[in-house]
Amino acid sequence: MKSAVRFTINAENPLFYALEPDLSLTMPTPEQNPDVATAAASSESAPAAKIKPAAAQKKPGKLATRFAKFGLRSGMDFVLHLPARYEDETEIVPIVEAAARFGQPSQVEGIVTGCEVQLKPRKQLLVTIADDSGHQLIMRFINFYGSQQKQMEVGRRVRARGEVRHGFFGPEMVHPAFRVVTANAPLAQALTPVYPAGVGLSQAILRKAINEALNRVQWRDTLSPLWRQRLELMEFEPAIRLLHNPPHDIDQYTLTERTHPAWERMKFDELLAQQLSMKRAQAARRSVGAPRLDTVGQLSNAFLMTLPFALTGAQQKVLAEIRTDLRAEFPMQRLLQGDVGSGKTVVAALAAAQAIDSGFQAVLMAPTEILAEQHFRKLAGWMEPLGISVAWLTGSLKKKEKAEAKALIESGAAQLVVGTHALIQDTVQFSNLGLVIVDEQHRFGVGQRLTLRNKGTAQGTAASADLPAGASPAVPHQLMMSATPIPRTLAMTYYADLEVSVIDELPPGRTPIVTRAIDQNRRDEVINRIHAAALEGRQVYWVCPLIEESEALELQTATDTHATLAAALPTLNVGLVHGRMKPAEKQAVMDAFIRNQTQVLVATTVIEVGVDVPNASLMVIEHAERFGLSQLHQLRGRVGRGAAASACLLLYQGPLGPVAKQRLLIMRETTDGFEIARKDLEIRGPGEFLGARQSGQAMLRFANLETDQWLVEKARDVAQFLLQDKSEDSARTVRAHLARWLGSKEDFLKV
Ligand code: ADP
Ligand code: MG
Repeated sequence: MKSAVRFTINAENPLFYALEPDLSLTMPTPEQNPDVATAAASSESAPAAKIKPAAAQKKPGKLATRFAKFGLRSGMDFVLHLPARYEDETEIVPIVEAAARFGQPSQVEGIVTGCEVQLKPRKQLLVTIADDSGHQLIMRFINFYGSQQKQMEVGRRVRARGEVRHGFFGPEMVHPAFRVVTANAPLAQALTPVYPAGVGLSQAILRKAINEALNRVQWRDTLSPLWRQRLELMEFEPAIRLLHNPPHDIDQYTLTERTHPAWERMKFDELLAQQLSMKRAQAARRSVGAPRLDTVGQLSNAFLMTLPFALTGAQQKVLAEIRTDLRAEFPMQRLLQGDVGSGKTVVAALAAAQAIDSGFQAVLMAPTEILAEQHFRKLAGWMEPLGISVAWLTGSLKKKEKAEAKALIESGAAQLVVGTHALIQDTVQFSNLGLVIVDEQHRFGVGQRLTLRNKGTAQGTAASADLPAGASPAVPHQLMMSATPIPRTLAMTYYADLEVSVIDELPPGRTPIVTRAIDQNRRDEVINRIHAAALEGRQVYWVCPLIEESEALELQTATDTHATLAAALPTLNVGLVHGRMKPAEKQAVMDAFIRNQTQVLVATTVIEVGVDVPNASLMVIEHAERFGLSQLHQLRGRVGRGAAASACLLLYQGPLGPVAKQRLLIMRETTDGFEIARKDLEIRGPGEFLGARQSGQAMLRFANLETDQWLVEKARDVAQFLLQDKSEDSARTVRAHLARWLGSKEDFLKV
């Protein structure tokens, strides 16, 4: 379905325009900026109070509150509350014809010839109508009121709208929208808009408020005639009016598909506002100082010398990009994307080395304790022999250890710090933080990353002491890493204020992972196969099913699986790791696996991110149909890290639903993370892909990033021009456009 990649608008997902690109840390969080919601409306917007319909005035404030929850405050907000779809009530179709339109709603009219409540198989109201030609249609109501039964007495004339299906007694409509009418009652002249509505906001209320707003707002086109001509865009007011009241002879297809020029104008405006605000956020970031990490010296060189391998071309390329950024006077904000196993950690270590070479601290934060510990060991193993002090901080440390770590961090004795989110607690102070590295960034919330970044702005850090008097405090550079690639269109919009580096090459000598989907009832064969593999010296991950409803059940299953496998494989050592274990226990299990003392590791999804045991070459995922694509890809990425040929077995429980089937097929077809992300986007839509999960906000109401890429590109170019052009005309356009589309929400950007 095409509309899958459009952001859904419903009551749970209020019409919030995302002004907060998830990774762009130049903006305060809403909590820090409580007056955003109450900020003054722009000059062109009529206050919401004026357009309150009469009904609301009896209970002052109530309706306005409901509107506000939906982001409807100013007159322009209402005007821009565009229909989600349209209903055609402009014509009446003969019942025969309606019956022939498969799957399409139509409107019919007839006289009631029967109206009765049927009790079996369940209570329902059946109303039969007949039109002029004598064809009959049954309206079936499973839920109904007595008043409805009375309304549709025999002899009444009824207009009904719905999809006709073929029932046992001929054509019928289930729960049609209906109205009792008089003969020759006038038909709607335009398509009827259906607005995104919610609890306490009916179509009627919205329609009324919107119509009032249409008559009240000041219509001014933010784009000059010259721009419109150049971009071949419709004028603003006619476009808006058309979308609220489309003429009945309009090409309905272009209206529902949102390809009509009026829709294009809206999408362009929306995208332009987004691009403008993002670019301004970027400019704001550039005006903030950053520690100058301008030395690639002894440590960096020594580190490269001691590495047992040479960097791949892709690693060298991204390293060069990062090194240039770190020398800049403003904070880097760079996302390092690379498929699982592409070697991001080394690049991160080299970035840290540059910070340390320049006299600053660097910190690496990972989302799980297992991953953080693994990073710590790896980085300490690399750096400590070179005389660098590496500190370790997680929530599970004993009080005394924690205090010691904090003291080292505060004094600056610890040059490199590795840890979990414990690092973002208030009490951790850095001496002179120059670089923040966030691994698996998508696992952290915006707020968490923001707090960590702000650690560097604390008063009295070496960074701010270096700045001339009066300059804004320095903000550390930031490097975010992710194996979940962001499709280009998303990167261009959502992440407009983010530089992106991509490692598009795997280290040499990797063998491709063979992936198979296998029915659960062949589990015994799979166990035999891993037995044989383990006897050849290979190591195996066995991932237990994801049970979202119950962590306890998930744990139970993992324990059971462990017992079963241990019994089935008496000659092997089978380990078990799950989220409820204490960090030390977890680490002991992981250590045994790393040292090849256990051959099979039964695990819950705790091993999803980042674990690196190159000798493991077989991955079994039970109930693979329950996992999402990116999760499956992350899990599979735990193997294929060494020279041995690797395999991933996706055990599934049939019968598979269409989406689960598609996911398993995609997994079988490709190991390319970018391809998988693209497919994921197709299946789930960007709203869920990033929006909902990561920021909790829908980002675009009208534009569709998949199909409207050409508009995205136009908007980006125009935004660029407008912001670079120094003329008063352009400045006015920018102001007016942002005020209209973002209104008070633009305050997010004024850091
Ligand atoms: P990811 O990008 O998934 O975080 P890692 O940084 O964990 O990947 O790297 C995966 C493995 O590849 C590690 O064992 C690492 O030491 C190794 N590696 C990284 N770069 C290279 C390289 N250029 N040549 C060979 N092996 C490398
Ligand atoms: Mg990693």
